[in-house]
Amino acid sequence: MFKCYVCGREIDFNEVALIKGSEIVVCKKCLPMYYVKNMCRLVNRRLSGEELIACQYCKFKKECDEYISRLKK
Ligand SMILES: [Zn+2]
Repeated sequence: MFKCYVCGREIDFNEVALIKGSEIVVCKKCLPMYYVKNMCRLVNRRLSGEELIACQYCKFKKECDEYISRLKK
């Protein structure tokens, strides 16, 4: 069994979306937000108002939009 670093759920291997080093395991449900908050290098540029073409093709764009609109309020 693995434990999701983000939500703390115990998960099977087939629910694991990401393993980073020996400590961080992220489940499929948490991956989009984890990616947006911790792995994407473009979020800060979007936050400062830049429109990035690459983001239109990002598979986590929906989550990113939500994250950014929350931070901007
Ligand atoms: Zn999780």
